[in-house]
Amino acid sequence: MKIVIFEPHPDDLLFGPGPILVEWINEKKHDIHVITITDGRACFRVGEQADSENAPLMSEDEVATMRTKEAMEAIKFIGVPMENHHLFNFHDADGQKNVKAGIEKTIPLIKNADRIVFPSNNNSHVDHQATHDIAIGASKSLALKYLEYFVYFIPSYGKFQEDSKDHQFEYIIDEERAKNLQEWLEIYKSQSFTKYTWKMYTRFLQKIRKWIYSIYKFEEIGKYYNF
Ligand SMILES: [Zn+2]
Repeated sequence: MKIVIFEPHPDDLLFGPGPILVEWINEKKHDIHVITITDGRACFRVGEQADSENAPLMSEDEVATMRTKEAMEAIKFIGVPMENHHLFNFHDADGQKNVKAGIEKTIPLIKNADRIVFPSNNNSHVDHQATHDIAIGASKSLALKYLEYFVYFIPSYGKFQEDSKDHQFEYIIDEERAKNLQEWLEIYKSQSFTKYTWKMYTRFLQKIRKWIYSIYKFEEIGKYYNF
């Protein structure tokens, strides 16, 4: 199976599809690709994070370089071949400005895919919404009727809603997987510069054993809150 995963920022791969992605990699039979949409440069911009005033003094270019490197290290850590990592390098927080170019870059990558994995619709984060729109836009322009549409939601940006309950499922992880995810988190050193964020991330991975995902079909696009 060719699986193409969309990550809006370097670190969303872990908090979105991360837990189940580890299982797909372990199955050793899939051609797994990751698209990192933005370079994460805005993460210390005042107002982007709860404690951004405590962020280090770095230029946004430096932040982008650091986070892009972290995205690549994460790919290496989980064991996806480096040539299957596609960095779009859009500036983050630019949201909808990137959608058109994002669709063009995405088309060749998903045209022969079996499953795409991307953030939910009605997303409160502009880049996560843009990523959803890129994935859907590219799929629609190719009319990918037999593709599996696998949706995740980063909890702070919204929730799965009742209207597509039948499409959702719970994914439970064991302690070993939870430990693996905590080791993965250590790669995103940039996020440890802001203490509140780091504490929140660390606690989340220590505590959460249940993830929710959902799966849809082409003809269901636009029919549900999450899709
Ligand atoms: Zn994100």
